[in-house]
Amino acid sequence: MAGASPPATCLAIPTCCGRRTGYIAGDIKSGAGEEGGSDEGEGRSKKHYAVQLALYTDILERLGRSVGRRGFVWDIHGEEVPYDFMAIYTKNARRLWDDYQECLDHARAIAGRATETVPTSSAGTCKNCVWYTACIKRLEAANDLTLIPELGRSKRDAMIGRIGSVRELAEVAPADFIVGGKTVFAGIGTATLEKLHARAKLLTAENGKPYLRAPVSLPAADVELFFDIEVDPMRDVLLSARARGAPERGE
Ligand code: SF4
Repeated sequence: MAGASPPATCLAIPTCCGRRTGYIAGDIKSGAGEEGGSDEGEGRSKKHYAVQLALYTDILERLGRSVGRRGFVWDIHGEEVPYDFMAIYTKNARRLWDDYQECLDHARAIAGRATETVPTSSAGTCKNCVWYTACIKRLEAANDLTLIPELGRSKRDAMIGRIGSVRELAEVAPADFIVGGKTVFAGIGTATLEKLHARAKLLTAENGKPYLRAPVSLPAADVELFFDIEVDPMRDVLLSARARGAPERGE
């Protein structure tokens, strides 16, 4: 569902642990290897990175090729960040391997149809996801509320009991859901409800078009610059940077 992590590559690095020889799993990531760190303090392992690495480790284990429940992330800074799945990281003795097992159980429940999942449209992640075609078909068939920009899972969950689709939202009067200056939906303010309602109306209108909510002034400038910058963040290399003036002025 929405929230997929950035593209990753799985590496299995041969290693020697005592007299056992085998592999540990690694991932190349386009983000930092840890979260919440600072210059003075250590960061924490990212749970979604850990779950992916633990899956690769589990596969290695089942193949008899793992040398231990640990892995590493090669991150955007070129750092090799170790992940120890068996280290306790909470007061109640929680380990990253427990997080992985929990996700594995959930995935098995989905595969076994014991758990029903509902897709959530997300502009940031869905377009890069292999399930996009299947999910968008389902979302459109259901006229799902998350097809509205900036209306994600939590807002849909708050509204779904009273407003079940984009069409329904377009037809309601927002004032009917505002009591004492607040909406009846947790986490949704009055201005947000009105904005989402306007978007629902646009999406369901036959000839819905963008419109200005305030006057816009786009002053002419003597010089206009257009930038085109391409980089390889993994190698910290700037491949191309171009700037040009407004073509109609021949600059
Ligand atoms: S396309 Fe479907 S599975 Fe993929 S991120 Fe979007 S909702 Fe989730």
